[in-house]
Amino acid sequence: MPISRTVESIVTGQRVTDGAGVRIIRILTQAQQHRLDPFLMLDIFRSSDPDDYLAGFPDHPHRGFETVTYMITGRMRHRDSAGHEGLLESGGIQWMTAGRGVVHSEMPEQENGTMEGFQLWLNLPSGNKMVAPWYRDFQAGDIPEFVTPAGVTVRVIAGQSHGVAGAVTRPDTEPLYLDLHLPAGTAFVQPLPPTHNAFVVVYRGQVVVADDTVGEGQMAILTNAATTESVTIEAAAPARALLIAGRPLAEHIVQHGPFVMNSHEEIVAAIRDYQSGQFFG
Ligand code: MN
Repeated sequence: MPISRTVESIVTGQRVTDGAGVRIIRILTQAQQHRLDPFLMLDIFRSSDPDDYLAGFPDHPHRGFETVTYMITGRMRHRDSAGHEGLLESGGIQWMTAGRGVVHSEMPEQENGTMEGFQLWLNLPSGNKMVAPWYRDFQAGDIPEFVTPAGVTVRVIAGQSHGVAGAVTRPDTEPLYLDLHLPAGTAFVQPLPPTHNAFVVVYRGQVVVADDTVGEGQMAILTNAATTESVTIEAAAPARALLIAGRPLAEHIVQHGPFVMNSHEEIVAAIRDYQSGQFFG
């Protein structure tokens, strides 16, 4: 077996309210965005109570990074100031590059039932923070998927796994975003460059990474030891987990709410541009 990364720390998310009153769990917070560079945030939403999600996320701006929304169950409508509109449905992904600025809304298109999914924020390198906004919806069937000989189903949202290219690739940060469905008694091995920051988020059951158990709703930050070349994720009982990794940008990160830039001056400019209506055209 290749030498697997170990678990550096295990994080349990914080319950927060965002948007117009949506209850979510923020598991990758601002406190970890240097450690997990190039990733800035990860929110988990999972509720069968419409009061937790109906308010949605009405019009709000973003600049300087990308948002990746993965819907496990549910329906959410996206509209933005760059003219994009799409319906995100169960098993689908919405990838939005805010770049120099968008104003968008993310509203549930269901009034009952379960809504479950994740929103990841991926930073852009300084030279790309002001690119034109970009947007794409990937329906469930558009996401490359394979089954390992051991029986693990791997959905490749971004990056490459076992020769399968994901729905999205990004050259600067080389994000890897896998959704793993592990039957009982299986293991999954993913090669990872030791310099890439990586974490595992378990959303069903529990998994074991190098003798450490990671439970449902927890995030394991993986060590970056130079001697490791992969991570091995094992499940004694059926489990589902996200494996996310990327090449750090090692640039200054200044976040002010929905704006993530490299300096305070750029944040001031973002607020000024937004307030003067420049995100709308
Ligand atoms: Mn948003």
